[in-house]
Amino acid sequence: MTRVEYLLIGHGIAGATLAAELRDRGHQVLVFDTPQPDSASRVAAGLMNPVAGKRFALAWRAAELLPAAAVFYRAQEQRLGQQFFHELPILKLFSSVGEQNSVLARSADQPWQDFVADTTGELPTRPGVRQELGGLSIRRGGYVRVEELLTALSTDGLRQGWLLYETFDWTQLVAQPDGSLIYAGRVHAQHVVCCEGAAAVHNPYFQWLPITPNQGEVLEVECAGLPAAEVLNKGAYVVPLGNHRFRVGATYRWPPFAEGTTVEARQELSQRLSEMTTQPFVVIGQRAGVRPAVRDRKPLLGTHPTATNVHIFNGLGSKGVMMAPRLAQVMSDWLEKGIEPWPEVNIRRYLTLYSPASASAGPASPASRS
Ligand SMILES: Cc1cc2nc3c(=O)[nH]c(=O)nc-3n(C[C@H](O)[C@H](O)[C@H](O)COP(=O)(O)OP(=O)(O)OC[C@H]3O[C@@H](n4cnc5c(N)ncnc54)[C@H](O)[C@@H]3O)c2cc1C
Repeated sequence: MTRVEYLLIGHGIAGATLAAELRDRGHQVLVFDTPQPDSASRVAAGLMNPVAGKRFALAWRAAELLPAAAVFYRAQEQRLGQQFFHELPILKLFSSVGEQNSVLARSADQPWQDFVADTTGELPTRPGVRQELGGLSIRRGGYVRVEELLTALSTDGLRQGWLLYETFDWTQLVAQPDGSLIYAGRVHAQHVVCCEGAAAVHNPYFQWLPITPNQGEVLEVECAGLPAAEVLNKGAYVVPLGNHRFRVGATYRWPPFAEGTTVEARQELSQRLSEMTTQPFVVIGQRAGVRPAVRDRKPLLGTHPTATNVHIFNGLGSKGVMMAPRLAQVMSDWLEKGIEPWPEVNIRRYLTLYSPASASAGPASPASRS
């Protein structure tokens, strides 16, 4: 029997950051993952944008999340000998005079100012960029090559034995009288942490949480005339990948989901790109994935109300890349030291939705297994 402290289900950006954090703290970790080319993390453009939305407000806790993310991704680069985090300015192109005014109204705010370049000067002309109404240059963000990072971490995990490419079957999990858990008669874990992304809607322990999966698509395009020194953003983002390639995203679609990629998304994103550039481009790829969104748009961290050794780290929505590293620390502090996760992300906020009757009556139901 393999014995571990933490058994993690899922190795997207949630499971990967948590596994790294727990392992760095000296814990024994085993991760089960079904590698899927279209998982949210692998499809994501990896954008980390601290200033978002039509009103240019600072993203939730950006001043804390972004530096922690930068430190985490840089540390992985050191360990794995590969660049993942590309710190680049993000040029938010205005689409109306109203947007210009919103920025002027904010320009004295702190810490907002730390994330924007001077808002008063004229925007220098960029060849190939439509910038008639000007824009705002956002700093300290950029993008992470998430797929490459997960591939490198997985290679490490498979070699060292802390990662298994295997689908976890919840019906094979048996709770022990002391709260620990045995999986398929071969893994004994003190704790199980669910990091399954949108697949959590089928998790028998956490089906009661309001996870509202949302499908998104991105394009990969080739465009010779666009500058590659910054990310463009106007209704969509354009992330430079090198060699005249760019990732353009993303769409949002609520259920019912499409089977794979769609013509509509391709048209929508192509249209948005042509609103940002005067240059011709060719679509060379298109991918779709499903985001683990949550009703109140905040992540889900915490412990099952009755199965006290079963936990969740999920709900990263559309900003998992920026949020995951700091939240993995918050989650580890909870698991290791009992420090409660922040109220905004703590699943206790949804406790009224839980009743033992609402939990699965199947064999994985914690109450029926212990
Ligand atoms: C089109 C698109 C573009 C996006 N762009 C960005 C962006 O630019 N910036 C940003 O921050 N975020 C972006 N996101 C959101 C981001 O991708 C998510 O926040 C993040 O990837 C969620 O990570 P996760 O690990 O929770 O889930 P996932 O990436 O879905 O990973 C879950 C993993 O768990 C595995 N799994 C599930 N069930 C089991 C099981 N029973 N057994 C074994 N393995 C299992 C899955 O196979 C998968 O590998 C985008 C999302 C989409 C769809």
